[in-house]
Amino acid sequence: MKKVNYHTHTTGSDGKLKPEELIKIAIKKKFDVLGITDHYHFPTGFRNWGNEFYSDKHYEELKKLKNKYKNKIKILVNVEFDWLKYYKKWIKWEATKRKYDYRFISVHFIKIGKEYIPLDYSEKSFQKIIKDIGGIKKLVKNYYSSLRDAIKTGCFDVVGHLDIIKIWNRKKKYFSGQEDWYKKEIQKTLNLIKKKNMKIDLNTAGFRKPCAEQYPSKDILEEAEKMKIPFLIGTDAHKPEELGAGLKEIKNL
Ligand SMILES: [Zn+2]
Ligand SMILES: [Zn+2]
Repeated sequence: MKKVNYHTHTTGSDGKLKPEELIKIAIKKKFDVLGITDHYHFPTGFRNWGNEFYSDKHYEELKKLKNKYKNKIKILVNVEFDWLKYYKKWIKWEATKRKYDYRFISVHFIKIGKEYIPLDYSEKSFQKIIKDIGGIKKLVKNYYSSLRDAIKTGCFDVVGHLDIIKIWNRKKKYFSGQEDWYKKEIQKTLNLIKKKNMKIDLNTAGFRKPCAEQYPSKDILEEAEKMKIPFLIGTDAHKPEELGAGLKEIKNL
């Protein structure tokens, strides 16, 4: 079996290693495929952080490195876009102006009033989102509906960490995932993924978070498998030690 990692980050966004450093480690660790999936920058004026992510220079460098190492490892020039509800036009334009191997779409932000709040920042902030939006069920539904809006654009190839909404759900403290309303949200989302011929990011970063399992959960994986939706395995590595993290754990799923 090939050793693959389709989801990693470098200094092209918020990762610790330069692209070439990461590639050299991946070669040393005998990976056959390395997807560099840096975050795309935000629209002007959105936040004063990350505005330099995925510059033209970075993009050109990745293409060069892909060619330079092609006999040693298969490098994929990927990207991870953020879905931001009211920036649809901008996102569609930006996502299609360059060629990528795989365009990932992820929902990291929930819009509350005028603000976009990151889901993964802290549990305290997550609890505030629940309170402001009017309960966990509303938040979860809002999350999956945003994700479906993103999928509907047809601009993307891969759904990033599909159920990241469970990130703080240690021992299922916020929801069990077995609720009828939850399963309905999942089914609707999977139907759309299938319809748009997309793939799912089988992401091991969840093992390193309070939810303590991969994204997406086993139930979702089984359902997706029945529907013949393909997966791309990735560790969402931001540091060298995360390059192979969780790959053994998902082998037995
Ligand atoms: Zn992400
Ligand atoms: Zn990522």
